[in-house]
Amino acid sequence: MRDQFGRQINYLRISVTDKCNLRCTYCLPTDGLEWIPKPEMLSFEEITEIVRQMAGAGLTRVRLTGGEPLVRRDLPVLADMLASVPGILDVSLSTNAVLLPQYAADLRRAGIQRINVSLDTLRRDRFTEITYRPGRFFDATLEGLAAAEETGFRPIKINTVMMRGINDDEFADFAQLTRSRPWHVRFIELMPVGRNLHLADRFIPASEMLRRLESLGGLKAVEGPIGNGPARYFQYKNAAGTVGVITPLSHNYCDRCNRMRLTADGRLRTCLFGSHEVDLKTPLRAHGEVLGVVRAALDAKQERHWLQLGTAAGSGGLSALSQVGG
Ligand code: SAM
Repeated sequence: MRDQFGRQINYLRISVTDKCNLRCTYCLPTDGLEWIPKPEMLSFEEITEIVRQMAGAGLTRVRLTGGEPLVRRDLPVLADMLASVPGILDVSLSTNAVLLPQYAADLRRAGIQRINVSLDTLRRDRFTEITYRPGRFFDATLEGLAAAEETGFRPIKINTVMMRGINDDEFADFAQLTRSRPWHVRFIELMPVGRNLHLADRFIPASEMLRRLESLGGLKAVEGPIGNGPARYFQYKNAAGTVGVITPLSHNYCDRCNRMRLTADGRLRTCLFGSHEVDLKTPLRAHGEVLGVVRAALDAKQERHWLQLGTAAGSGGLSALSQVGG
């Protein structure tokens, strides 16, 4: 599958639910959003059929995301179904890890190889401030990370949204974590969407993040772990893991984009941002075929996103990334 600019598209991020067990300040508003009604949600069979058709045209990698994917019942069953699709080489998961102690072994058996864990703070009290959940959720997250490591997921990447005055005094602590653990901590720039614009002054550009990481001493650029993403990686001397930055705002990497996104109710987004969704559920339920619609959507995939700090104008009407899966 190629888009109109010749970019090869081989990666699909699948949001399996818009619901989450956390309420991270910058992501899901504390009063929630209008949830997708159950009949509108794609079933496991429908998701697998979409992936099967895309795999026939060149899709090789999928990632399960959300909302929080592990709040969707029986997620390992879906992982197993997707890993069994001919042509799919890699099934991965993005999770907040709260439910990982329960599911890690089943997910691994189902064929998931790689896990990304979102964790914005290493401090229990601050976790509550950011996620609006009690400290036991923080404990569960750390247990989830340990379970991921024990169960043999490799590589383990941690996604950290760094925000000025909220958690940006923790660069040294996260750096220290990569010295002792073989984990890859990626610092992500805060992306402005409809419901988090009040946080615009919390934005920290990756250039500043890197300066602050470098000031800790002994940092050098490295290749980084395998993956499909746009992160740039660095390593401290003798560290077991790496640190990285992901720069959706300050350094647009759209020219290397290889991805599409599927929402839990069957809308295909060929860019995280912008107003260009197409409905796959209706043709799928009507006559079982989606590839024509997918190809037409890729022919119209925009060259780049137009996200801008302090305004939701470029976000394509998104209220929160929980609606798409990040
Ligand atoms: N619940 C799963 C998780 O925690 O990884 C998957 C969904 S979550 C929406 C995916 C990622 O998007 C998380 O790492 C989260 O921190 C990130 N994210 C959400 N809103 C964001 C924003 N406005 N700017 C930057 N990253 C954001």
